[in-house]
Amino acid sequence: MLSINEIFGLTIQGEGKRVGKPSVFIRFSKCNFTCSGFSIKYTNEEGIEKLGCDTFYAVDKTFKNQWRELSGQNIINEVMNLCGMQKPDIVITGGEPLLNWKSEDFQKILKYFHENKFNITIETNASINIDLNEEYQKNILFSMSVKLANSGEKYSKRIKIPAIKNIIENSNDSYLKFVIEKNNATESLKEIKELIKELPKCEVYLMPMGENVKELAHNEECVINLCINNSFIYSDRLHIRLWNDKRGV
Ligand code: SF4
Repeated sequence: MLSINEIFGLTIQGEGKRVGKPSVFIRFSKCNFTCSGFSIKYTNEEGIEKLGCDTFYAVDKTFKNQWRELSGQNIINEVMNLCGMQKPDIVITGGEPLLNWKSEDFQKILKYFHENKFNITIETNASINIDLNEEYQKNILFSMSVKLANSGEKYSKRIKIPAIKNIIENSNDSYLKFVIEKNNATESLKEIKELIKELPKCEVYLMPMGENVKELAHNEECVINLCINNSFIYSDRLHIRLWNDKRGV
């Protein structure tokens, strides 16, 4: 069984390499990080005010009454109902979905959507070393949102060079995506440059921090300039422009 926070679509992918593609999202519960540095304020189910990331409801265990335990087949059925007659991208996100990599149910989902010729993206913080031996695993697009110091996580926890290298070298397509805030953009750029020196060649996307249009506006120009000056690729957050911080769209 797999712990799922939400399954939703059809919608569009709002960020990264396949932005704009019609998509169904499977959001896994649980994460090995909390990313309090992203400073999203929320009140958890115990009434305690906390700081976290924009998917705190998939990370903070006090929200577990909103999570469902589903089998791989249940997940496939729900997704297929949402797809109707279409073949959207399947986006596996979280939380940290790779916590489930060794689960038979998780592999069943990947295999099913690969065999039925769906494009699969896994959005991950790339801190977990996984076996990538099977063809259906290699065909996944790995969107690696490696966390910088601005996440508030310790370096030793968030940067796992062997795990990132393994994905770059053994999958057919992957890219790095970093969240940047104007206030510490110089430090973030330095960190990114240090990191990519240790990695095989890989596309780098920069994305402005922000859970609403106002915050995006504060950070976006600085991020665009970093991309122009360093040959990185700008990733917008289209879903935020369209729906602001509304969930499940
Ligand atoms: S790794 Fe991603 S899902 Fe996990 S806490 Fe950080 S931003 Fe949130």
